[in-house]
Amino acid sequence: MSTYDVVILGGGPGGYNAAIRAGQLGLKAACVEGRATLGGTCLNVGCMPSKALLHASELYDAAMGSEFASLGIEVKPTLNLAQMMKQKDESVTGLTKGIEFLFRKNKVDWIKGWGHIDGPGKVTVTVTDNAGGKTELSAKDIIIATGSEPTPLPGVDIDNKRILDSTGALSLTEVPKHLVVIGAGVIGLELGSVWRRLGAQVTVVEFLDRICPGVDGEAGKTLQRSLSKQGISFKLSSKVTSATSSDTGVQLSVEPAAGGTAEVLEADYVLVAIGRRPYTQGLGLENVGLTTDKRGMLTNKGHRTEAAGVWVIGDVTSGPMLAHKAEDEAMACVEQIVGKAGEVNYDLIPNVIYTKPELASVGKTEEQLKAEGRAFKVGKFPFTANSRAKINHETEGFAKVLADERTDEILGVHLVGPSVSEMIGEYCVAMEFSASAEDIALTCHPHPTRSEALRQAAMNVEGMATQM
Ligand code: FAD
Ligand code: NAD
Repeated sequence: MSTYDVVILGGGPGGYNAAIRAGQLGLKAACVEGRATLGGTCLNVGCMPSKALLHASELYDAAMGSEFASLGIEVKPTLNLAQMMKQKDESVTGLTKGIEFLFRKNKVDWIKGWGHIDGPGKVTVTVTDNAGGKTELSAKDIIIATGSEPTPLPGVDIDNKRILDSTGALSLTEVPKHLVVIGAGVIGLELGSVWRRLGAQVTVVEFLDRICPGVDGEAGKTLQRSLSKQGISFKLSSKVTSATSSDTGVQLSVEPAAGGTAEVLEADYVLVAIGRRPYTQGLGLENVGLTTDKRGMLTNKGHRTEAAGVWVIGDVTSGPMLAHKAEDEAMACVEQIVGKAGEVNYDLIPNVIYTKPELASVGKTEEQLKAEGRAFKVGKFPFTANSRAKINHETEGFAKVLADERTDEILGVHLVGPSVSEMIGEYCVAMEFSASAEDIALTCHPHPTRSEALRQAAMNVEGMATQM
């Protein structure tokens, strides 16, 4: 039996950050991960490969369509899908090896296998590397960071041949002729965009009457308009009730969400992206008296479960299923284990959809503030009035700042436009310091940059934008 201060189950952004922070703080830490590589969903089959394909497909599309030509760059691109996938896989390998390096640097042991909790402080690992067999670990504290898996859709069985989950859609060997995406959430829009740009016809079927429930309504509508212009078709308020697949394609039966006459959609590939659910399979929760709620989720109070010495972080517990949320919880959880005051500000977790244009937001939406009965002011600035965006011919979208009517404190920020994922951080910092819209309005921003739109939006909270 090997003895540790802390054993972490899962090597994703929650688990690996917890392990590294534990190492930094002088704890003897082991991270148990059953996949062949570290990095979890995010590095292996999530954030990173999807961003690699979004980047490559965006460049291909720009060269293929009128965008490059209008800038005076005449090229005739040819798609080499195998190379596009290879560079994606190589980037992923580089990143996962990077975590191995960080483990060595911080003296974290990677135990290669699937962990099972046998009782308080006791974990058995079914080893997955060449050694095989089982190994026993003991620790004062156990952190569960086992992540999530795709939510299945009854009647539409994922086989990753014709009916895909996100992992399947990240490694197709041909461009679909017609890809039907079920679910207009973040995975559906990002991966739908990838394959649309590479030449597929893409139809997105969404149960609700809007895309990306939860994002600011105006921002969501603007994004949907842009994606529609790019050729993605949306069937909102619709549900898929069954799927029949063959070697060459899939027939889907689609009905209005409220019921009614069904129509048949033919596709060569279908992506099921209706959400993800917590993953706790085979974990032995019962051995420490833990159960999951009706969503399959482990609940927590400040990262502690109800079992003494068992903590939980990341997708497997409540809150948005985002890598940076898992990372923040990892840091806070380990700091609490060593008696420090680790804390996560759940009000300020940014959200980004990496389509073109991107959508990035932090804080409350207009809909949330109205539902809370909170009086607020709105400052908006369109990218059509931003000089850098105009020069670059990337004028879709806007910056919107919501500020408290009385105190001017910034309550929410919603950006749709080019590279807004890189700009939202400014407002995350400002809001951590309880900044007012005036604070941003009075802060000098470099010219010419798209970030000036963020300042102009803040100025417009009091109708003072100078550039529109
Ligand atoms: P995971 O990353 O899921 O890691 C959990 C790990 O635990 C897995 O590797 C699993 O093998 C391992 N495990 C499970 N059970 C055991 C066990 N018993 N023993 C040992 N190991 C075990 N988020 C963003 O913030 N930005 C993005 O751009 C983004 N893009 C995404 C794109 C896609 C296609 C997908 C699917 C997700 C994306 N996400 C994104 C979400 C992000 O991947 C997750 O929020 C993040 O990975 C959660 O981290 P985690 O550590 O909680 O879990
Ligand atoms: P999601 O929750 O973002 O969207 C799922 C969509 O499917 C929703 O719009 C929902 O209304 C719809 N839906 C549900 N059931 C349906 C049905 N039967 N028929 C039609 N539509 C249905 O889920 P996702 O896109 O699968 O992503 C899963 C998680 O991964 C998300 O929580 C997200 O945070 C994370 N993720 C994040 C990023 C990012 O940060 N850029 C990228 C990818 C994934």
